[in-house]
Amino acid sequence: MDIYKALKMYFGYDSFKKGQEELVVGAINGKDVLGIMPTGAGKSLCYQLPAMVLGGTTLVISPLIALMKDQVDALNEMGVAATYINSSLEEKEAIQRARDIRNKKYKIIYVAPERLNAAAFKDLVRDINISLVAIDEAHCISQWGHDFRPSYVEIPRFINSLKIRPTVAAFTATATIEVVEEIKNLIELQNPITSMTGFDRPNLFYKVVKVSNKFAYLLDYLNKYYQEETGIIYCSTRKTVESLVKKLRDKGVDAIGYHGGMTAEARQKNQEAFIFNHARIIVATNAFGMGIDKPDVRFVIHYNMPKNMEAYYQEAGRAGRDGEDSQCILMYSPSDVVKQKLISQNEYLSIEREKLLYKNLQYLIDYCHTNDCLRGRILTYFGETIEDNNCGKCSNCLEDMEMTDITVEAQKILSCIFRANERYGVAVITQVLKGSKSKKIIELGLNRLSTYGIMKEYSVDVIREITMTLASKGYIHITTDKFPVLRLTAQCRKVLKGEEKIYHKKDLVEKKAAIEEEKTQKSRRVIENFEEELFDRLKELRSKLGQEKQLPPFMIFHDATLKEMAASFPRNQAEFLNISGVGLKKYENYGEDFIAVINIYCEEKEIAVDQSKEENIKEIKVGHFHENQELDRYELTYDCYKDGLSLEEIAEKRDLGKNTIMKHLKRCEEKGNIVAWERFIDDPSKEGKILKAIEEVGLKKLKVIKEALPEDITYDDIHIVIFKNQLKGS
Ligand code: ADP
Ligand code: MG
Repeated sequence: MDIYKALKMYFGYDSFKKGQEELVVGAINGKDVLGIMPTGAGKSLCYQLPAMVLGGTTLVISPLIALMKDQVDALNEMGVAATYINSSLEEKEAIQRARDIRNKKYKIIYVAPERLNAAAFKDLVRDINISLVAIDEAHCISQWGHDFRPSYVEIPRFINSLKIRPTVAAFTATATIEVVEEIKNLIELQNPITSMTGFDRPNLFYKVVKVSNKFAYLLDYLNKYYQEETGIIYCSTRKTVESLVKKLRDKGVDAIGYHGGMTAEARQKNQEAFIFNHARIIVATNAFGMGIDKPDVRFVIHYNMPKNMEAYYQEAGRAGRDGEDSQCILMYSPSDVVKQKLISQNEYLSIEREKLLYKNLQYLIDYCHTNDCLRGRILTYFGETIEDNNCGKCSNCLEDMEMTDITVEAQKILSCIFRANERYGVAVITQVLKGSKSKKIIELGLNRLSTYGIMKEYSVDVIREITMTLASKGYIHITTDKFPVLRLTAQCRKVLKGEEKIYHKKDLVEKKAAIEEEKTQKSRRVIENFEEELFDRLKELRSKLGQEKQLPPFMIFHDATLKEMAASFPRNQAEFLNISGVGLKKYENYGEDFIAVINIYCEEKEIAVDQSKEENIKEIKVGHFHENQELDRYELTYDCYKDGLSLEEIAEKRDLGKNTIMKHLKRCEEKGNIVAWERFIDDPSKEGKILKAIEEVGLKKLKVIKEALPEDITYDDIHIVIFKNQLKGS
């Protein structure tokens, strides 16, 4: 079968993503392949599609048992015969599967690496024709990578034990040269066709946050930006996970925990709750996530610092697999750095290795203190050269980058450390500079230092920030004792003497990102305008179907696919299959249900058959900051409203549906703007009639309400009254 045909028929896509095609073609032609592509780039398709096209069976080696079922379910949903074998199966089931495998019932078999060299498995594969072995998360073979899995070392032995060497395909999202080389060597790939796509994830927004009250910031952030979407919050310890879950729940945030100290059952339960959207936020240690394929994670917050850039990028990269705008927030705190250093020290390590760990950690610390583009820093780490040092989509590029000379402040801090005999940590030094009258300071006699109170007018946060910046720039050394102490390095002499100047971003403390002009960057498919109400209804149908089939909603259709439906109103098979993400099997299983909802909606809204918002699906330039873009949209609508335009006029001017306009205005109202809804109803007596009708027939079906009212009352009138009176259930 033609690969494009297979791509459309099974996956519902019209084109390959960057890097996919070479690998697919290579594997089909019997060449070894190596895919080094970031999370969300679509690595699975690179072995799944060849598996569907090739004769024989494909073995997929994947590290996480918990995930295999999901991936197999997803393939079955697409109409591909796939199965898995791992220790979670009951014996009877395992025997049945083995029989089916021998009878060549499956195109794809997922298997845990631990199984490979077991006698029973070897027996089994001897009887079938294995055309391709795909190794997912291949960096697990590397001891230098952070997810090392001893059983991965078994893979080459297994491959060599097969009568005919199959094509071997390896995939990873880890890009450091050492790891890539190790993968090639250890797996013994033979002249692999290599696809190394850029590591940039243009839909991710990066931000570093330095605040003294992390919890308050987190809560505010969640309330402001993410009241409904799902996200991951990473903490460094089990204890923090548990306390944070509790604190969030106390504040009414729907959060659950995940860490290695929980029973396997409890972990499984919470992971599923998250994947099925039963719980919105998962607070976790780094035990959570490898291979979590949930595509609609909208934010990943690091409540504590991870151990290096590689770990950070892996974890943060779990946001926005589906390509939609998502945020990655790293909360910096100096004490985390100390913790990480202690962890590195505790490990039984060679000096060389320890040094490497320090170096890697330092890169991340510098990331937290740099004034440069954060995306640039990340990509540079992975060996990419960046053309533009302003991505327009990270906290550094969006903030006012005006620099300010902080040499004097630096001198004050450095000399305070010196006067205090380099015996204290950042907290005490800050208090001295601030002129604190605390008992401890007085008892230690630090109030008699000449530097006492010389930074009275600065906030504690600012003093701390400058201190940490000095540390990141190498002027201060922070010891790795239990109580870390600030020491001066030789480098600081020049600063103290005034021979070297130090600069820092003007806004030291957390500042709201400013709206930036669109940057010219890569473009991607974005659905700008869609009927939000229809989207909601389609989502509802999706969860209903998901519940019936016990599948996570995204396995039926992704958000982006539903949005496209809500923009182009497909009403027959051909139109439906045209939607990106709809394959043949999905159409057969769900097409009619979704089309029915779309039909009802169009009928209600009097949307003509040929009317589509397809023109709204655009290749837009990336570079928007999601939350501002949203804000902007609402504000533009409100501006029109303030100009006294009618609903029709606003809709026309904004090129949106009237219903969307009303939703925008509702949002503006919730934000404290005044909306005089009655302005949109020509006859004031209509409101009473509508309310009465709603009282009688309920809010469930607009059509029923409409039928209970005189002809001259329109759907718009009903909507306006519902919005005005804040009635729920529409
Ligand atoms: P990775 O393993 O590289 O992190 P996945 O294989 O999980 O990525 O794919 C990420 C997302 O990209 C999935 O939601 C998948 O459906 C989607 N995807 C893969 N290939 C394509 C394609 N050619 N066009 C559109 N979406 C794709
Ligand atoms: Mg993957």
